[in-house]
Amino acid sequence: MVRFVTEKESTHIGRCIYCDKAEGTLTEEHISPYGLNGLITLLEASCGDCATITSQIELHVLRYMWGAARTEMGYRRRHKKGANDLYPLTVIRDGVKTVREVPLTDALKVIELPIFKAPASLDGRTFQSGIECISKDQFLLNEQREDIAKRIGVDEVCPPDCDAEIFARFVAKCSYGYAIERYGVEAFETVYVRSAILGNTRDIGRWVGSPDTREFPVRKTPMSVGFKIRPDNDVLVRIKLFPRFDGAEYITVVGKMKEFHAIQYRLIKADREAPRAASL
Ligand SMILES: [Zn+2]
Repeated sequence: MVRFVTEKESTHIGRCIYCDKAEGTLTEEHISPYGLNGLITLLEASCGDCATITSQIELHVLRYMWGAARTEMGYRRRHKKGANDLYPLTVIRDGVKTVREVPLTDALKVIELPIFKAPASLDGRTFQSGIECISKDQFLLNEQREDIAKRIGVDEVCPPDCDAEIFARFVAKCSYGYAIERYGVEAFETVYVRSAILGNTRDIGRWVGSPDTREFPVRKTPMSVGFKIRPDNDVLVRIKLFPRFDGAEYITVVGKMKEFHAIQYRLIKADREAPRAASL
């Protein structure tokens, strides 16, 4: 079943999906990020404190890692595009690595997608903390790194240093948002990823990782998403962040669904997959 979203779609929540706070000002939560042209939101779904934390995660990924590439591809921006906009560019000169702010013309327009091992809770390996990037997908949009380096007079131009843990929290945040939109906050007995998204624990590698296979087709949507409820009621969300590039896919073990809800969803699925009685 494929769902193409062409207009904004919002679901009302009425409490912070990260800390359960229901009082005070609650803001709209973009579950597929605004900066990736996402159109699905949760209304009154984040308190101010949690929004401050999650916006830092998005800042690292959407601006620091992908800012220049997103502008080049015409993705939405929070602020009006200006001629003086600067983008971080990592350069090496005389053996010293620094980050400069450069205009779009000199920026490296690259989309990097870290690849991880499978979530530790799925493959049963011993888990310490954090998450390790084992490889990367890299999509360079136009100019070669060597050409930029030559033009601006440095020895080397590098892709931005990605913080694997922040990136995995970004993946978890998107996946958790999609799970809430699909199943509702009430459906979960436990949400595994909440404390790691907020930075309270360092167990993100237990819940987020990369699958061995890629399942989603290439398409021009902001993100591809799939859901699975395991026999133990754990909810798995698979996302592909740049379906247009055939980029890496990620699996997040979001949380455990309440037995009652899991039974309902299994019944719906069985009904959908049952042979049509009409043909008898
Ligand atoms: Zn909150």
